[in-house]
Amino acid sequence: MNSVITDATDQALELDDEMLCLMRSAKIMMVDDEPINMRVLQLHLNVEGYERFVSVSDSTIAMSVLRAEKPNVLLLDLNMPEVSGLEILEQIRADEELKRLPVIVLTSSNSEDIKFKALQCGANDFLPKPVHASELALRMRNTLVARSYEQRIMHVDSLTDLPNRLALADYIEQHVANNELGADSHALVLINIHRFKTINDSYGSARGDDVLWAFSQRLRLAFVEAAAEEHGSGDSVLVVRLGGDRFGVFANLLENPSAQSVLQGQLTQLLKSLEQPFAVESSDVYINVGIGASYFNTTTKTVEALISHAETAMRNHDQNSGYPCTFFSAEMTDGARRLLDIENGLRTAIEDNALYLTYQPKVDVQTGLITGAEALLRWRDAKLGELSPVEFIPVAEATNMIVPIGLWVLEQACHQAANLRRTVAPHFKIAVNVSVAQLAEPHFTDFVLAALKSSGLPSRALTLELTENMIMDDVEASIAKLAALRELGISISIDDFGTGYSSLSYLHRFSVDQLKIDRSFIMQIESLEVGSPIVKAVVMLANDLGLSIVAEGVETEIQLAYIQTLPRMEYQGYYMSRPLIATEFEKLVIVNMQKLAA
Ligand code: C2E
Ligand code: CA
Ligand code: CA
Repeated sequence: MNSVITDATDQALELDDEMLCLMRSAKIMMVDDEPINMRVLQLHLNVEGYERFVSVSDSTIAMSVLRAEKPNVLLLDLNMPEVSGLEILEQIRADEELKRLPVIVLTSSNSEDIKFKALQCGANDFLPKPVHASELALRMRNTLVARSYEQRIMHVDSLTDLPNRLALADYIEQHVANNELGADSHALVLINIHRFKTINDSYGSARGDDVLWAFSQRLRLAFVEAAAEEHGSGDSVLVVRLGGDRFGVFANLLENPSAQSVLQGQLTQLLKSLEQPFAVESSDVYINVGIGASYFNTTTKTVEALISHAETAMRNHDQNSGYPCTFFSAEMTDGARRLLDIENGLRTAIEDNALYLTYQPKVDVQTGLITGAEALLRWRDAKLGELSPVEFIPVAEATNMIVPIGLWVLEQACHQAANLRRTVAPHFKIAVNVSVAQLAEPHFTDFVLAALKSSGLPSRALTLELTENMIMDDVEASIAKLAALRELGISISIDDFGTGYSSLSYLHRFSVDQLKIDRSFIMQIESLEVGSPIVKAVVMLANDLGLSIVAEGVETEIQLAYIQTLPRMEYQGYYMSRPLIATEFEKLVIVNMQKLAA
């Protein structure tokens, strides 16, 4: 009997390199209340070529040691005091992390009952005690081979033969456990094929698979084979298919001082290779990829975190950097985080009473009289502090929250202006900024009418400021809307004039009343003699067209003096006053009137 087993061992154990490697790296854990048994097992296995062992004689701590050690195989004695082998087996199979661990049970009992019980509990194999060396070797080998096959199936992408996402996760976990991954020593480069779905949709998924396979070959060529040529082994990079049309390159960047530029060079090479089309049926298919990278470090150490940060880097890729790949940095999410905070804060800003208006005077250039004001929105958030509209208005626009917010501004501005007209300045006019989303609202005109009605402000005292691009985006609809508003007596002003893409003559098609010359033109006025030919030309033309004019951002005496030489207009700017809260603004209006009356 013994000789039969020995012969079989000699024949079967034609150990190839892969098998030897498997044996050497396998961590074998033994649980037996008799330490001598484990010493014997270890001795036998040592002779075969196994090197890594963990022995536990106290069955009560078996589970915690298992969780800490994560062995490849467990040799488990069934017959132990306190906690029996069967109980441990049951716990293993119920444990999320350990449930697939191969377990070979050792039993001196010949009872079929016990064996059946062990199988029921999930034992993978048996070894009768006392253990025969050759049988031990064979059972151990078979278990490991079965295990490695399963591992291979689980870790390799069947389409491209590349390691998959799980393989990358395990690779990282293993290297972390062995202390081989330090902060910023490695990076994941994410390579995403753009609009791969259209290839699948137009040629069918079988052809789509062909493209993926061919793409994976180019990837291999650019990284694994290039690295092998460079330093004789492709070990410094792991090329993986992360799923679908997404691939990854996990690269060791400490390998040599120029590892990062080598990596960028390889990516450039890859991009170059993509200039060649993929032949699909009789067509040439070109593919584009997005690339982003993320360093492995203490905050980014799982595959999920690496991918997510690489995605962020991909979105933030700087085309002008000259490199194919941008690395993730914390500021990228800081920016996104802040946008999210702003969005969340804005949702309750009205009910939190966190919004308020400031007013910047519009002044008659010739007389110095304050004729009206522009209402400018402010937001003081409990968490974010004071925010500039330059920062939060775009968020409000993107999320359509500008509609309710704009309505609030309109109501508030109309009420405060009506008040001022009643108490201080009977001819006072108020200007309110309007966003494109507001104008697009079907009921926008009704909202405006309602605000006028509830405040008692006459329509001739209200000006709506719109930017030129807003009107040009949807010309026909805009013409109708603006005409309707003007019919009600409301004035329309073109804000930031000169920064958009319309021309003065074209603007004449729209029913508008006023042009606001953008601050950037006024800023260029540095002397009375030179002035600004552009400002002069615009003012002359607007004057001919019968439009009133407002110069924005007048900051200096010279700028004011220059526009005083042009046809009559109004101005706004720090030279007269910054935007003020309502009470301060009212004081300014009173002082202005007293000064002019004196
Ligand atoms: P805008 O309509 O062009 O407003 C003029 C901006 O220039 C204001 O900035 C004002 O404070 C600033 N300004 C005025 N005079 C001077 C000056 O002499 N020098 C300089 N450097 N700046 C001056 P603010 O208040 O930060 O508003 C920025 C933008 O936010 C506005 O540009 C407008 O587009 C938008 N905005 C403000 N309030 C509202 C609102 O209620 N609704 C909408 N839709 N947009 C608003
Ligand atoms: Ca404005
Ligand atoms: Ca403006």
